[in-house]
Amino acid sequence: MRFVKLLIEEDYEIKNHTSFKIGGKIAKVYFPETIDEFLQLGKLPVIGNLSNTLVSSFGYSGGVISTAKLQKIEISGQKVISGAGVRGPKLAQKVAEHGLSGLEFMIGFPGSVGGEVYMNAGAHGQEVSNIFKSAKIYDGKEIKTLSKGEMDFSYRHSICQDKNYIVLEAEFELVQKNPDEIKKQMDENLNFRQSHQPSLALPNCGSIFKNPEGNSAGKLLDECFVKGLKVGGAEVWENHANFIINAGDAASKDVLSLMFMMQNRVKEKFGIELMPEIRYLGDNEEEVELCKLLKVQ
Ligand SMILES: Cc1cc2nc3c(=O)[nH]c(=O)nc-3n(C[C@H](O)[C@H](O)[C@H](O)COP(=O)(O)OP(=O)(O)OC[C@H]3O[C@@H](n4cnc5c(N)ncnc54)[C@H](O)[C@@H]3O)c2cc1C
Repeated sequence: MRFVKLLIEEDYEIKNHTSFKIGGKIAKVYFPETIDEFLQLGKLPVIGNLSNTLVSSFGYSGGVISTAKLQKIEISGQKVISGAGVRGPKLAQKVAEHGLSGLEFMIGFPGSVGGEVYMNAGAHGQEVSNIFKSAKIYDGKEIKTLSKGEMDFSYRHSICQDKNYIVLEAEFELVQKNPDEIKKQMDENLNFRQSHQPSLALPNCGSIFKNPEGNSAGKLLDECFVKGLKVGGAEVWENHANFIINAGDAASKDVLSLMFMMQNRVKEKFGIELMPEIRYLGDNEEEVELCKLLKVQ
C-alpha cells in the first residue's frame, strides 16, 4: 500500500455544507483522494453532498470520510464511470453533452453519485437502478466490484445500507439519444421541481419520509394538516407536507421533534407508520434516542 498525506480537517464546521444548513462541528473529516488513501482509513461514516442528512447541531465527536475528492468521470461509448463525489447535476450535464440519456433525473437535486447509489435515488420515473451496471465498493476489508444483481436495489434502498458498504465509484450504462431531446427532458424536470419543491434558498433535505407502498407520504401528511407546523426554526413547508424547511435558525432537535409530530399524526389517523428517508449524523444521546423512535438511520 502507498502511504500518502491525506487531507484531514479537524473541528470542521459542517453547517454551510449541508442542504439543511444545520449542524455543529465534526471532530475529524478525512478527504481521501485515492483508493490507497481509503484503505488507510478503514470503515467510518461517509458523507457525500449532505443533501439527505440531518447533521446534529451538537456536532459529531468521531471521524467521517468525505467523498468530495473522488471526482473522476470517464465516458466510453455508452458506459460512464463516475467517482462517488461527483455531483448528480454535473454528471447529468456532462453525459447529455455526449448525447447519452438515462441520468436526466439527476439534474434537479444536489446529491453526490455515491449518495445516489447508496439511496437508489430517483425522480420523474427514473432511478439509479435503471441505468446501474456496477460499483466499486469498500466493505471495510477490501475493495470489491458489485454487479447490479448484487446491489439488492428497491425503492430508496441498496445493499450498501444493510452492509455499510462505501461506494467509491459507479458504472452506468446509458443510451444514445438526440442531445436536444435530453436537454428538453432535463428542462422539464427542473421546471417541475421549481413548481413543486422548495428551492435550496429555503434550506431543506428533500422528502422527509418515504412513500409507503401504494401511497404518498405527502398526501397522507397533507390530510393530517401538518403544513405550516413549526418547532423552533423548523417548519413543514406550506406547499408540500413532506418537506421540512429551515425557516430560521433551526436546530437538529427541532427537525426531529417536528418529524415526531408528523409521524404520530399519520399513525393516529391512518394507522400507517411513515419511514424516514433522511439520515442522521451525530452522537447526542437525546437525539440518538429520538432517531431510534422515529426509525431514522
Ligand atoms: C431539494 C432536494 C431535492 C431532492 N430530491 C430528491 C429526489 O427527487 N429524489 C431522491 O431520491 N432524492 C432527492 N433528494 C435527496 C438527496 O439528494 C438524495 O438522497 C441523494 O442521493 C443524497 O446524496 P448525498 O450525496 O447528498 O448524500 P448524503 O446526504 O451525504 O448521505 C446520504 C446517505 O448516503 C450515505 N452515503 C453518501 N455517500 C456515500 C458513499 N459514497 N458510499 C456509501 N454511502 C454513502 C451517507 O452515509 C448517508 O447515509 C433531494 C434533496 C434535496 C435537498
